[in-house]
Amino acid sequence: MSKGLEEATVTEARRLAADADRVVVKAGTNSLTDDDSNLDDGKLDKLVDDIEDLLSRGKDVILVSSGAIGAGTGRIEQSSGTVEESQALSTVGQSHLMHRYTESFDRYDRKVAQLLLTQHDLENPERFTNLRNTVETLLDWGVVPIINENDAVATAEIRIGDNDMLSSAATMGVDADLLVTLTDVGGVYTGNPKEDDDAERIEAVGTNYDEVQRIIGETTSDGFGGIQTKVEGARDVSEHGIPAVIAKSTDPDVLERIATAKPVGTIFVPINGER
Ligand code: GLU
Repeated sequence: MSKGLEEATVTEARRLAADADRVVVKAGTNSLTDDDSNLDDGKLDKLVDDIEDLLSRGKDVILVSSGAIGAGTGRIEQSSGTVEESQALSTVGQSHLMHRYTESFDRYDRKVAQLLLTQHDLENPERFTNLRNTVETLLDWGVVPIINENDAVATAEIRIGDNDMLSSAATMGVDADLLVTLTDVGGVYTGNPKEDDDAERIEAVGTNYDEVQRIIGETTSDGFGGIQTKVEGARDVSEHGIPAVIAKSTDPDVLERIATAKPVGTIFVPINGER
């Protein structure tokens, strides 16, 4: 279902997404951990395989990876009930996560770099310029930047709160021309696909945004970090003229399919003034 958008508009957005030279890929915790909150090697390797496809096409890729708190929870038997405990767990999980990314990208002889950010780094022009310069240098060197929120120092007042927002800020900040948000749901639906068999995938979002928002408001109860923030992040990017796709991390060759303009997940068409 494309909800009233012209087929030609959707096809053009897919072509733009396929042609992107610089891609931000955001992977959520569920796309990296198993039901017991252990880092899932199979999932992580699949993500890296998918990213390798983009890299081998000559594209720059910046990965925004969640999973630090999740992986920390699986690694040491401590509860994550308080903010302090979640913060501490993130530091355990983050180093484990990077260790696994290092090993996994090594299979392709690729090097990775860790960047941990807070809202301050995005708001302060000097810090933001430094961040851009570091990312450009890493990309020049062929190193894959892997960004996460710096959960150890991001407290309730200052934390970005969600990597969906971080990835949309990063997309615009590093002049990327595509954002791909990988989730365990795989797009925007007319209902909750995990509970409702009749829920249909909405293929494209653009001028139908208000209606899509209404549907999401009626059908989902998930708060921060759910489909709502993914949609907001993708919309933000598309309002800046950049296409965004929300897709399923477990779909075979998901990034390759985007890079070859196949219909995947939900695409947010770049908005050029019309709403
Ligand atoms: N930074 C958090 C983590 O790595 C995740 C935040 C998010 O998923 O939005 O665990």
